[in-house]
Amino acid sequence: MKKVTTINPATEEEIATYTRLTADQALEKVAKANQTYQSWKKTSFDERAKLMSNLANIFDENKEAYAQLATQEMGKMIQQSRSEIEKCALICRYYADNIHELLADEVVKTEAKKSYVTYQPLGVILAVMPWNFPFYQVIRFAAPAVMTGNTGVLKHASNVQGCAFALEEAFKKAGFPESVFTNLNVESKDIKTIIEDKNIIAVTLTGSEPAGRSVAKIAGENLKKTVLELGGSDAYIVLEDVDLEKATDLATKGRLQNNGQTCIAAKRFIVLEEIYDDFLKLFTQKMKAAKMDEPTNEEAYYGPMARIDLRNEIHEQVEKTIQQGGKLVIGGKIPEQKGAYYPATILADLKPGMTAFDEELFGPVASVIKAKDENEAIQLANNSTFGLGSGVLTGNSKRGEKIALQLEAGNSFVNKLVASDPRLPFGGIKNSGYGRELSDYGIKEFVNTKSIWID
Ligand code: NAP
Repeated sequence: MKKVTTINPATEEEIATYTRLTADQALEKVAKANQTYQSWKKTSFDERAKLMSNLANIFDENKEAYAQLATQEMGKMIQQSRSEIEKCALICRYYADNIHELLADEVVKTEAKKSYVTYQPLGVILAVMPWNFPFYQVIRFAAPAVMTGNTGVLKHASNVQGCAFALEEAFKKAGFPESVFTNLNVESKDIKTIIEDKNIIAVTLTGSEPAGRSVAKIAGENLKKTVLELGGSDAYIVLEDVDLEKATDLATKGRLQNNGQTCIAAKRFIVLEEIYDDFLKLFTQKMKAAKMDEPTNEEAYYGPMARIDLRNEIHEQVEKTIQQGGKLVIGGKIPEQKGAYYPATILADLKPGMTAFDEELFGPVASVIKAKDENEAIQLANNSTFGLGSGVLTGNSKRGEKIALQLEAGNSFVNKLVASDPRLPFGGIKNSGYGRELSDYGIKEFVNTKSIWID
């Protein structure tokens, strides 16, 4: 029997060991999820909303325990883990409270006596999820999917299996029927067999570009719809009219939150040359001042990365960038201590073609790039294979809006760090994926948009 052991990235100590499901055992669970779907799809919006509100209450009641678990398994700062659980409750309530409006039939005037569009569930959806927001990413998929009448099966990241089982338990505690939401503790290699199974109707994946490509290929061969939320290398354009104190506060927070491991983190700062040196100086001071410590230390700013291998990977990217001519301003050295720690690092004077410009750096490493003017800044921002989030920091929000409209990304924020909000669609373009989550756009990804005509 295969097993997976979770490891605390702050201490490198083992937390727990879980027995993997074989592919056959997983398929049995998928079959059960499909059986449950046959009755779940007939429940009313009100019945589902009641259970979804219960789930929100479960998140409220268990906030501290769930937050501690996330922090232990993937190293998130404890205050941020608490916020993550609060956000789960928010999403559950958003879909519970708005389901009637979000999925209301839409009457369309035609020559028919009556014609309209109605939204019906599809079946069992497979969700492949990452560790970086181990509760939130799952709920972002599961709350709308389950509210439409679908059932969900989860293949969560191996290092957060405790969170995966806690989520399955939370659905049970909320009163959802067995198998509306199921955790499948399988290896990635078994995903192919699961996608190919007749009971899986569609797949959503949040994770890296390679994982997205692999899952999309298998799903495509089997004509199953996918939604992909992949990596990003978000550019923030910093204009010369900005308040530098505010801009560098945002930059520090944007780069270090979740210990640098957020898909929509500010990763590339493209700064106009008039203020480049001043920005870099102040940003360096603030990144240096940010305290790195254990994730349970409420006073610390950031903590370890989620796994030693991921920390080593980012260090290699930093070293490669320096060899290519990038300037190391601070950080860039693996500390001599236990845990997957990596210091706040700044790489400056970056150009297209350098690793830190071209690739996603998923850790506390900021890339700073000089642009001679606004047009070059836009060009540099769009010179990326990714297109998830983007930002403009400026003293003139009208000017910021004009630039935001020209950025090739699914989200462009002016004077605010990109963040997801249940009322707005969230997702990317280019190699950051396709499809949307959240809002009415998200809930309609996994429905049968059905035309009805009565003559
Ligand atoms: P990852 O290595 O791609 O893993 C994500 C999930 O996919 C895990 O459950 C993983 O399982 C599984 N997986 C990996 N390779 C697979 C394959 N070939 N076939 C099927 N499943 C596979 O990514 P991660 O390190 O967990 O997360 C970091 C990445 O996610 C970053 O690129 C980040 O930007 C992106 N992300 C994007 C969003 C968004 O909304 N766009 C949000 C969060 C994160 P195992 O753990 O068992 O390998």
